[in-house]
Formats: sequence, C-alpha cells, structure tokens
Amino acid sequence: MILSDLYKKSLDLAPLSDEEALMLYEQAPLPALMHVANELRQRHVPGGGVSWQVDRNVNITNVCISGCKFCTFHCGLHSPQAYTTTPEEYAQKVEELFAKGGRQLLLQGGLHPKYGIDFYEALFRMLKRKHPSLLLHALGPPEVAHIARLGNLSYRQTLERLVAAGLDSLPGAGAEILDDRVRRRISPAKPGAQAWLDVMREAHRMGLATSATMMFGHIETRAERIKHLRLIRDLQREKPQGAPGFLAFICWPAQLDNVASTMLRGLEKVSAEEYIRTVAISRIVLNNVANIQASWLTVGKAVAQLCLWAGANDFGSIMIEENVVSSAGASHAFDRHSITAAIREAGYEPWLRNQKYEKEETPPEN
Ligand code: SF4
Repeated sequence: MILSDLYKKSLDLAPLSDEEALMLYEQAPLPALMHVANELRQRHVPGGGVSWQVDRNVNITNVCISGCKFCTFHCGLHSPQAYTTTPEEYAQKVEELFAKGGRQLLLQGGLHPKYGIDFYEALFRMLKRKHPSLLLHALGPPEVAHIARLGNLSYRQTLERLVAAGLDSLPGAGAEILDDRVRRRISPAKPGAQAWLDVMREAHRMGLATSATMMFGHIETRAERIKHLRLIRDLQREKPQGAPGFLAFICWPAQLDNVASTMLRGLEKVSAEEYIRTVAISRIVLNNVANIQASWLTVGKAVAQLCLWAGANDFGSIMIEENVVSSAGASHAFDRHSITAAIREAGYEPWLRNQKYEKEETPPEN
C-alpha cells in the first residue's frame, strides 16, 4: 500500500493492520499525519471545543512491591519514607478539591503487600459516607489484579466488591506498554499485559467507564507501541453494546530524569515531533475510542497545544496534586485560568467536563 491509500483507509475508519499503522507512523509526513488525525477527531468529537477537568490525584500509599524501574515514587513496607494517607488527610484534600470546584478523586497507590480487598472496601465506604457527592476514579488494572491475587478472588468478584463500596470508574493506569518482553524488563513484578486486558474486559462487561493509557519512550520499539494501540482497539470492540468501555486514551513519554535504573537513565528523550506523531497515530489506530488527551503535564503547554491539531480533543485536568510522574521529572503546571487560556490560544473553546466526558458548569471563583 502507498501512503495515500492508508490516509483514505484511516479516514474511512477502517481498522489498520499493525504493518499499515507502522508505515503511517514512521513514514507519513507530520503535516499529513496531523491532518488525517484532526479530520478523525472531528468525526468523533465534532466542533471547536476542547474539554478539561478539575480533579485531585491522591496516593493511597507509596508502598509497592512492583519495583518498576521507571518509578521514583514507591518504597518498601519498612522504608522510613513509607506512608498511607490518613482519614484526616483525605478530609482536608477533599475539602480543597470541592473548594476548587472538583468532584473527583483520582486515587492511586502501589501494590501494597498487606492491603487486600477489605482495606479498599473500608476506604471507599469511608470516603463515600463522609462525602456522598464525591466520585472515585480509582486504582488501575495492576492494583485490581494484585488485590484479587491477595484475596484469592476473580477479577469480577474484586471489581464487584469495589464498585459496591464506591468505585465509580477505573483509570487505565499501569498499562505502560502492553507487551511482556517490555514489561518483564521495566516492571518485573507487575501483573502482565494479559492481566491488564482481562481486568479491563471485566470492567467493560460490568458497565464501568474506563480509560486507556500508554507510557512510551523507554525500551519499547515503535512496533510494540502499535501493538499496544491495536490491543486496546480490539478490546474496545469486545465491549457490550451501550457499555462505556474506554472513554479516553492518554499517552505520555516516560519521565526518566530521576530514575536509578542504569537501563533507563540517559535514554534519548521523546522529541516534540515524536510525541505529536504518537498522539496522531493513536487517534488513527483507535478508530473506536472517542476522546484522545494531550498530556500537558509531561510535554508542556506548547506541544500539548499542537496535539489539539493532531487528533487530541482533551487537555486533561488541572491536577491539584500529582506525585508519581512529578517525582520522576515532569514539572509543568496549570490552574483553571491558564488551562482555559492555553486552549483558547490554540484556537479552541474550553469546556469543563466530568469523568464521563459530560459537560459540567464551571464553578464560581472563590
Ligand atoms: S509505577 Fe506503580 S506499580 Fe510500579 S513501582 Fe511505582 S507505584 Fe508500584
């Protein structure tokens, strides 16, 4: 096939083979790739709006047995740095979130060797009892798989109990690259690619809203990135009709400035062009995922703005607190004024969304 055939096939929303997607990713001129991705963005999400969100990322604990080589956030159970967020700290953080007009906590942590299903049920119930309007976008497939393993439960049983306790939606965290060659090297003790996919499949069958992610720019090949996207597209095709499935896809370059691993230190950084190409090819391959987010937190304002012309329709959230990628080197920040100004500067009209990508009223200033 030649490139023009692939542009047409993409614009027809036909699923590309891995070979076709790789050819586009590596050989299409950037303006052509951006143009096709932007056209597709208009098919999925027509108009001149770009969504954004207010949420707060709270880490349940930094204790983790996974030992991911790219992670500078986790520590061992007996480390002096080990912590578990207390009920008083949650209360203060939720109060701050509400004061800034947010309603959602993005709750993430590590694979704690002692925290099983009872711990998370009690935590979610406590948060929902104290703050009935709070939404919990919490955990991720590796944490769900870990909790299931600790309790000798199926993924379905684990998710059902978490939902009954207050889980509202499941983030696509911990996907990294869905290929076990890569995962064995960068996340040796983390549940594998199949576990990630199997947890998400169950979540979709239960009608839970989820998202998908990709952390790239470390030891993976471009072909493995394409495979990752294809696995997400194929899983989305399996979701029951009417189920939300993957509402969004977010990719970001690995932040490796402060990592200890000699395997990862000193790797060439993902360039602005590579990031924009990756957002564009994600929009093209994921012909059944409506929303594509630009990760301003990791690539900064200017590159994220360009992504809005390369298939992205969402600018993410003003995260009131973020520790995991920040501790690894990401240093960009936005408040509500600067995020909406950045969207306008890029030629779009900002609108505030919730986790389900529904419009929310912008809260009054305080
Ligand atoms: S990235 Fe997550 S799973 Fe991996 S070591 Fe860090 S906290 Fe643990």
